[in-house]
Amino acid sequence: MMQSSSSRTLAPGALPSVQDHVITTLSFYRYVHLKDLNILMEAMRAEWSSLGVLGRTYIAEEGINAQVSVPSDNLELFQLAVRRVFPEIPFKIAVEENNEAFTKLTIKIRQKLVADGLTDESFDVTQVGQHLTAREFNEAMQSQGTIVVDLRNHYECEVGRFDGALLPQANTFREALPEMLESLKGKEDQKLLLYCTGGIRCEKASAWFKFNGFQDVNQLHGGIIDYARQVKEEGLPTLYRGKNFVFDQRLSESITEDVLACCHQCESAWDLHNNCRFEGCNRLFLQCPDCRSEFDACCSKTCQEIMQKPKEERVALQQEWERKGGPKHYWSKTRLPLDLVRAVRPLDEPLPVN
Ligand SMILES: [Zn+2]
Ligand SMILES: [Zn+2]
Repeated sequence: MMQSSSSRTLAPGALPSVQDHVITTLSFYRYVHLKDLNILMEAMRAEWSSLGVLGRTYIAEEGINAQVSVPSDNLELFQLAVRRVFPEIPFKIAVEENNEAFTKLTIKIRQKLVADGLTDESFDVTQVGQHLTAREFNEAMQSQGTIVVDLRNHYECEVGRFDGALLPQANTFREALPEMLESLKGKEDQKLLLYCTGGIRCEKASAWFKFNGFQDVNQLHGGIIDYARQVKEEGLPTLYRGKNFVFDQRLSESITEDVLACCHQCESAWDLHNNCRFEGCNRLFLQCPDCRSEFDACCSKTCQEIMQKPKEERVALQQEWERKGGPKHYWSKTRLPLDLVRAVRPLDEPLPVN
């Protein structure tokens, strides 16, 4: 078992905290029917606190999703405690050192583990597909009639993906599910290979595809994150190319050196995301260093001009646009294809107020 660890020398008389122990960071999730969420939450909070656990955990009537750090001395006790409630749940031990990740323990109740827009009461999210290792996934990719399905968002698969995968245009998982189902209509007998970043979206999607009549539904266990680890450890060929988009400060990790995307402004090869510097826009987009300096890290000339105004004016502009019910997506954190951006807001468009 791999273990991320750190140990520091304590000053005499100092009380040890979790940071001063050797700690293990781990994550786990499972779709399982849960009841009495409040009681469960309180019980987990009490027991986990006593074991010095820190981190972020969500529970819902459909299951649990947790990322925590545990003093390594208590790891076994902690895993036993978790498995009393969630038998046989797989734990993923983080490879990298991540000691600063958590400063407190939060356990929250949510409507859903992943927002999916599904309301059908008869859909059973625990009836998931077959879990595949990296080796099995590679092998399955070679067989005839296999369909590889990317279940991430448009901006995630733009910078990295498995060769030949079906890619969603959607900006959210909620939109990606019906979109993928529609494009796979009539292919219910073919083998499906699903993948996402860490595996949790596939848990739900695989159950959803089975519910919709697909016979042979398979998913990459642990997602691209664990695929990359297994490939490295076992010396397997990497069939995923480019970057894996991740939801932390790094925004992405390189799986291979291939650059699959291009700058949204000049279309030269480029695959690093950036948020527009105008905080009212905050669009997530791909921008090369040349365009970054030409546009002052803004997504358009419009945003660049706004950034040259005093802060009060910028805020007023933003509020004015919001009041007018201007293009809603313009304020979102995700991006749209550039031609759509141009259509909605031409680069030389005059400022809305002034
Ligand atoms: Zn560029
Ligand atoms: Zn912008």
